[in-house]
Amino acid sequence: MTVEELLASQVRRYEFISQHESGHAAAGALLGLVPVEIEVVSEPLRTAGQVRFKDRPATSDAVVRKFALMVLGGWMATDEEPPGWPPDDEAAESDERALAALVQHLRLDKTGYAALTSEGWRLAASDEFGLVEHAIKSALRYRCFLDAEEIANLLLIALGTERTAELYGVDLDNRTRSEEAMADAA
Ligand SMILES: [Zn+2]
Repeated sequence: MTVEELLASQVRRYEFISQHESGHAAAGALLGLVPVEIEVVSEPLRTAGQVRFKDRPATSDAVVRKFALMVLGGWMATDEEPPGWPPDDEAAESDERALAALVQHLRLDKTGYAALTSEGWRLAASDEFGLVEHAIKSALRYRCFLDAEEIANLLLIALGTERTAELYGVDLDNRTRSEEAMADAA
């Protein structure tokens, strides 16, 4: 392999992983999980990525389901079929292992898993998913690490003020009122 070929495959791999990680972040954010770190590690022979969220899959099934959909978002962003039933908790791919654990926690059967993946595809087909995915993927072209503040700014651009405030639990009405109070006082 020539250096040019190596570089070209490295770039393709970086783009692919960026898209995949953007899918996790977009699915998570649209479901109310706040992404706090997005990283694509790019080394000559290894490209990998990860998204960290503020929340953890807690005891609530509703949150566990959100995490399962967030994991599915990675495959959906790159138009790949997610693992078939049942996802393997000893799979080589860490996403499949994570998905398997979440699906087991939710005690889903084959039908329940099909419903989960359908929900994932519907989410990934939404305009909002595309907007968030695009914003994050574009930012990852220029830097391989995005912190919580950068992610918040990208979500603000992609989703607008109200939707982003809702995600971060910011009460816009209260803020507006106190700003009005300050303006009146001034
Ligand atoms: Zn992944």
